[in-house]
Amino acid sequence: MRLLLMGPPGAGKGTQATTIAARFGVPAISTGDIFRANVAQRTELGVLADAYMSAGDYVPDEVTNAMVADRLAEADCADGFLLDGYPRTPQQVAELDAMLERCGVELDSVVLLEADSEELVRRLLLRAQEQGRADDTEPVIRRRLEVYAAETEPLAAAYLDRGVLVSVDGLGSIEEVAERIMAVLAPEPVVVE
Ligand code: ADP
Repeated sequence: MRLLLMGPPGAGKGTQATTIAARFGVPAISTGDIFRANVAQRTELGVLADAYMSAGDYVPDEVTNAMVADRLAEADCADGFLLDGYPRTPQQVAELDAMLERCGVELDSVVLLEADSEELVRRLLLRAQEQGRADDTEPVIRRRLEVYAAETEPLAAAYLDRGVLVSVDGLGSIEEVAERIMAVLAPEPVVVE
């Protein structure tokens, strides 16, 4: 199973990515998590990414693409993966296409998790209190939502045209949303009488 999980900040991608990846037995790869780990360890990549992330902007494509290419080349991705938070720009879509083509594989599905922006801001502000993530302050949250709407939301249309996009309502409990995602990815077989 080769899956992408798309959706605005606060839609619940990270939470759902872990559950869905476990059900399919593939690694969940979150570009945001990899960047945050690098920031925490003060690596060269982390120092560079930090400036963009704390402003709510995207890390430059060359940097992000190279990081994802390295990760997808690891052995655990050979039979499948779930990418959370990548691709987010047209250049990243093109680069991912090239990476997959080199391996002779294709995406099975792109899941778009949807939620309205008031709910997103509410969830992110709550997470700010609970986890203290550096980019969960109100001005940075607003910036992240703007960047998503301008740069990433339009990418869904491309995947819709390819016939691989499925939209899932991200409102409800974690379990409800996970079941909705599983239902669109692995629908119950239809019994024909
Ligand atoms: P969010 O749900 O707010 O988008 P993430 O943890 O997925 O949170 O990402 C946090 C930050 O990491 C983003 O705001 C961005 O700066 C950086 N980032 C993550 N993925 C990408 C990507 N594919 N391209 C560029 N920057 C990214």
